[in-house]
Amino acid sequence: MKLNLKNKTDRKDDSVTRKFRFLGKKSVADQRESTEKTAVGKMWDSLQKKVENIGEKVVFRQSFFLYLIIFVALCCNVRLDFGYQIVVNGKNFGVVSSQEMARSAVFTAYDEIVAVQGMDYKFENASFHLVPVSRDYVQSEELVTNKIVAAYDGLTAAYGIVVDGTVVVALESDTDGYEILSEIEGAYKTETGETHFANTVTVEPCRVQADQILEKEEALAVLNGTKDAVLTHKVLSGETFSSIALDYGVGTQQLMEVNPQIEPEYLQAGATIVVQVPQPLVAVESVEVITIEETIPYPVEEQKDSSLYQGTRNVITAGVNGKKDVVYEITRVNHRVTERKVLSETVLSVPTTEVAIVGTKVKPKTAPTGVLTRPYYGTVTARFGSSGSRWATTHTGIDYAGNTGDSVAAADGGTVTFAGWNGSYGKMVKISHGNGLETCYAHLNTISVSYGQQVAKGSSIGTVGNTGNSTGPHLHFEVRQNGVAKNPSDYLN
Ligand SMILES: [Zn+2]
Repeated sequence: MKLNLKNKTDRKDDSVTRKFRFLGKKSVADQRESTEKTAVGKMWDSLQKKVENIGEKVVFRQSFFLYLIIFVALCCNVRLDFGYQIVVNGKNFGVVSSQEMARSAVFTAYDEIVAVQGMDYKFENASFHLVPVSRDYVQSEELVTNKIVAAYDGLTAAYGIVVDGTVVVALESDTDGYEILSEIEGAYKTETGETHFANTVTVEPCRVQADQILEKEEALAVLNGTKDAVLTHKVLSGETFSSIALDYGVGTQQLMEVNPQIEPEYLQAGATIVVQVPQPLVAVESVEVITIEETIPYPVEEQKDSSLYQGTRNVITAGVNGKKDVVYEITRVNHRVTERKVLSETVLSVPTTEVAIVGTKVKPKTAPTGVLTRPYYGTVTARFGSSGSRWATTHTGIDYAGNTGDSVAAADGGTVTFAGWNGSYGKMVKISHGNGLETCYAHLNTISVSYGQQVAKGSSIGTVGNTGNSTGPHLHFEVRQNGVAKNPSDYLN
């Protein structure tokens, strides 16, 4: 019987804009569905009626040739069957098992061809005939549909790289496709790890306009490109547009532009904003297992001692760090680390605990702090050392010129170990601060402390004077460590 397919109605079909066509099952099914929704559906109905009216006026080719085939087949014990041979524009496209399938194949193919060739396209003729065939020769409806489409859609057969169901690039050969994929994946290979595509990526046959077929290099550039993924972010307390932008690696201005509903200064915790993050078109995930030697910090054990002053800390056992091997599983998507998981830890050496005794006794004001302050704020007229021309011998302290009667303060807390006249030093006070550290205050006018007295840091011990070997009122200040004069500048803070 004959099917005369004509485009007499103005069809509105979304698939006209479709550039790619898959040869997969799904697209054929979709196509059929869309066919039914369009005006072709009406055409279908009218044609079906027409076919029913004609009835099963199936033409057997009553030729000698036909009987010969049956005879030969029976002789050779071939399992014979009947099928419907589809002929379009005078060309044989194969045999399907039912009349319905034959009709469907022709209509589906026609619809797909029109989608590419335009509304004016029509088959010169299309028909199907009941024929005896070997069962093995019966083909699927999809296969026949595809053969018809391939013959008349004017497109070129190609291989598409399909990323998450969408053909992203079309290539001349599937070898090119697989080479490109292996090149992309190879760029993310690590020495020990495994890689795989994070997207569903396949190479599949497709039909495209000839100029849509890309060279390998062009295709690679497309696949290495990025697209924006739109994520939502719930604003946390303290976050700002700029801090969120930084976290996602996007521009602050861009982040504000995609969230025009929010005034930046009124961004509140709990609000939901949109973040557009550029993501690679094809993502390669690599998983690597690496071992890193890490330090185990030593623990510290402190024992309290009420006989020692606060701030005193004596280490009895020194702490020693331990070592361990940590096995990490590191997951990266296109080099960016997305997960770091500890698989195992092996202790190589156990750390030694530091044991320290810490003082808890409250310090009296007279206890030394260990830090000296300047005893008098007069002008420095002679420094420590031999540089001063006035002094034939090394100057053992610092001279502060001042006014007779000005108060002189203890440089730190301690015990008075001398208070009185000391030859050329005149009236002098010496204070011991413990650990062999002493301070001396000479040429005093008056002394207000006595031998053995505890003095607090900064408390007055006497006044500036001009006693002993002195040419004017000044304070001669010395610092001695185990009896040896040291440069006071090294001790004063
Ligand atoms: Zn002096």
